[in-house]
Amino acid sequence: MAAVSKNSRTSSTTQRFFCTCGGEIKMKTLLENGKIRNLAECEKCKRTERRPSDFI
Ligand SMILES: [Zn+2]
Repeated sequence: MAAVSKNSRTSSTTQRFFCTCGGEIKMKTLLENGKIRNLAECEKCKRTERRPSDFI
């Protein structure tokens, strides 16, 4: 049996966003009116936007 060296690369496609204040934006999942809603929140200034791109 031949030893096959495989590159087991972990594909982490997690994008990181930063607020204008310099804080990192974390994604939060909220349950609103029975619907799951994603919310982006800056962990520094606690500003919340619907999408991480709205911070810029
Ligand atoms: Zn901020």
